[in-house]
Amino acid sequence: MNKKIPMRTCIGCGENKPKKELVRIVKTSENDVLVDVTGRVNGRGTYLCKDMECFEKCIKNKGFNKTFKTGDIKLSDEEVEKLRSSFEEALKLK
Ligand SMILES: [Zn+2]
Repeated sequence: MNKKIPMRTCIGCGENKPKKELVRIVKTSENDVLVDVTGRVNGRGTYLCKDMECFEKCIKNKGFNKTFKTGDIKLSDEEVEKLRSSFEEALKLK
């Protein structure tokens, strides 16, 4: 049996990977950007490898702003810090 694996693109390195190997990042309707460990948070989602490097790459090239098409929202340094620590936490889960 050949079950199709859902693939997603990491916005850090641009690689296509099975969804399960990626961490979901969501922008909620309140314009909060957060790490979605459950995969069930409502909002516009995007994906990153379980790799700190991809996270940093994404921050550096403003990947979140591009992906969420939020010219109006820029993540503040504080928000980036928050996101970074929850991303780190998410990496530890597996
Ligand atoms: Zn990546």
